[in-house]
Parts: sequence; C-alpha cells; structure tokens
Amino acid sequence: MPDIVLDKVSKSFTKQTHAVEDLSLVIPDGSFTTLLGPSGCGKTTTLRMIAGLEQPTSGEIIIGDSVVFSGKTGAFVAPAKRDLGLVFQSYALWPHFTVAENITFGLEINSVGKKEINKRLDEIASALRLDSLLERYTSELSGGQQQRVAIARVLIMEPSVLLLDEPLSNLDATLRMEMRAELKRLHRETGATIIYVTHDQLEALTMSSHIALLKSGVLQQFSAPLEIYERPANRFAADFLGSPRINFVDATLDQDSLSWGDVMIQLPKSAKKDVGPRVSLGLRAEELGLSRTCGPGMVEGRVLTVLPTGADWYYQVRVADEVLTIRHNDEIPFNYEDIVYVEIRSKSLKIFDDAGSAIL
Ligand code: ADP
Ligand code: MG
Repeated sequence: MPDIVLDKVSKSFTKQTHAVEDLSLVIPDGSFTTLLGPSGCGKTTTLRMIAGLEQPTSGEIIIGDSVVFSGKTGAFVAPAKRDLGLVFQSYALWPHFTVAENITFGLEINSVGKKEINKRLDEIASALRLDSLLERYTSELSGGQQQRVAIARVLIMEPSVLLLDEPLSNLDATLRMEMRAELKRLHRETGATIIYVTHDQLEALTMSSHIALLKSGVLQQFSAPLEIYERPANRFAADFLGSPRINFVDATLDQDSLSWGDVMIQLPKSAKKDVGPRVSLGLRAEELGLSRTCGPGMVEGRVLTVLPTGADWYYQVRVADEVLTIRHNDEIPFNYEDIVYVEIRSKSLKIFDDAGSAIL
C-alpha cells in the first residue's frame, strides 16, 4: 500500500481566494491521518482532490507510484482508478434496496462469490451494529443508521485507502464514542490508510496517528496528536486543540527568562532570542496547580467559579486581571471566593510571539 503525497497543492474556486493554499503533506502508508480545522478551512476540498473529484489549480498528488494529478504535466487519473473508498458527509443510499443489498452491491457487481459476500457482510454488520437491520429498507432508517450503512458499504470493499468526511456527524454522542472505537479497531485490523476529515478536535485527538491542522486553507502543523497538543506550532494550534480551551496569559521575555507577575521561569537555550519582550504564555488547565498555601513560584488568585464534571474539578480563578481555567482534583474541593495559590507545572512551555508563532 502506498504513501500519499501532496506537493504544493492549491485550489481556488474564485480568483481572489484560495480554498487550499500550497499544501504539502506526506500521508504515511497505513496511517490514520486526520484533516482537522474549523468549518470552511479546506478539509473537504483536500479530500476531494485526493479522491479525484476535484482538480487542483496547481501542484502534484502522488498515490504510491502513480502521479494521479500534476499541474505541470497535466496528468490526471480518474477517481475510479485510484483504488480509494469514499464516505462523504452526504451519502446517497439506494432507498429501494435493503440494508444488506446496499452493503453488498459493490461486491455483487465485482462478481465476488456468494459465500465470500455473506462472510464479509456478517463481519461488517456486526462491527457496525447493523445485524438486526439487514432486511430493512434504508428509507426506514434513522440518520445515524444510514450513516453506518454508508460506512459498511465502503468497508466491505476492503479498499487500501479509505477517505472519510465527517462520517460520524449524524450520530448521537454515545454512538459516536462507540463508532470512534470501532473505526480505530477496523483501522488496526485492516491496516488500511485512513484519511479522516473532522472539525472535532477531540475526535482527531482520540483517533488519529497523524493530524494535519488547517486554517483558511493553509497547513498549520502536521504531527502526531500529542505532539500538537504538547508542542503547538502556533497560537491557533494551541487554542484549537484541547478542552477546556488553553489559557493565554501576557508574559515578559528577558534574555533567558520569562516572567509572569512575580513568577520567573528559566528558558532553555533553544528559545528564540530575537522576540518579545511582550509574549503570551499558553497554559493548559492541567498544567496549573492549585494550593491553599503560598510557596515559591506561586501567584495568588481567587476562585470565581467551581465547575465539577464528575471525574474532574475545574476552577475559574482570577489572577491579577486574568481569569484562568484550572483542573485540580483534591479530596477537599475549593469554594467560591477562596484565596488560592497558582503554580505552573508545564512539562513543555508554550510561548508565542506577537505573530502567534511558538518560540521554543
Ligand atoms: P471544510 O470542509 O473544511 O468545511 P471546504 O473544503 O468545504 O471546507 O471549503 C473550503 C472553502 O472553499 C470554503 O470557503 C468554501 O466556501 C469554498 N468552496 C468549497 N467548495 C466550493 C465550490 N464548489 N465552489 C466555490 N467555493 C467552494
Ligand atoms: Mg467539509
């Protein structure tokens, strides 16, 4: 199975704007690569260009040994010849076919044997919890059930590359969690390359081996999920991933130390020196500690809001003129208006210059 390479791919629908701009990516064979970003950032357009349903304005797309699009030579391989399985947000099932017929249709026209078809149908139907629905007509199904049929119909073909555009968007929260685990298991078992589109950062973090984060058609970062989470390339990446949202505080950079109020942090030698002195420091809720007593490197704050979520306690704490969201699990919770002391416990400091680029 092939790596998929995008080399300086751009797509414009109008003269003034780029839907996708100068996008270069190497999507590794067998990876679960997610295209992540807010609505309108170019995810679907990118997926459609890989599928061959949309022609780039310029650049090159290579699948394995085959140049499937080249703006220079004019090469273009038709979608059907790319050996890709596609599930789009809007899927068309055949309403007058049963669920089983919808799922097996592709195998039937490829003259796969009856025994093999039934075997694969059983496996897919049980993986996607469709066993009890096989004889129903698809017009009688809920949106979530239809979405699972659309996924099953593609998976049963065992494509080496699977393109999925927000395939879980019609499912309720519980089923979506189950289907994430199921898709992850299917990925592990089939070894297929999956290119997955979502605007849901949690979905991307939980499922992917690689995330390509896009903003306004421009790639912001392409890394493993935890790499983006812990070492975001810029302020946008830091802000887009993580729930609750990351806190940003104003800090001052001075030679090789960073100060935030009375707190001073030594910076590693690798830090860029030609920025500042005003920078912003990104602090995730779990990177901040809370204490009832003051110690070195702590700043005083006051509890504004207490937000228990069952497993975790989140607090909104006012420190000087900033409000921070902090996760803290203590046997005795803090209360509204308590005076607390906040400590920074980051393993990797996230510091951003004026333009929003990470400086470490
Ligand atoms: P996403 O899937 O990330 O929400 P899209 O790839 O669908 O984003 O769209 C990216 C940009 O391209 C948007 O600004 C969208 O309006 C524009 N766009 C997408 N498809 C077309 C089209 N067929 N014609 C004109 N503009 C389009
Ligand atoms: Mg889309």
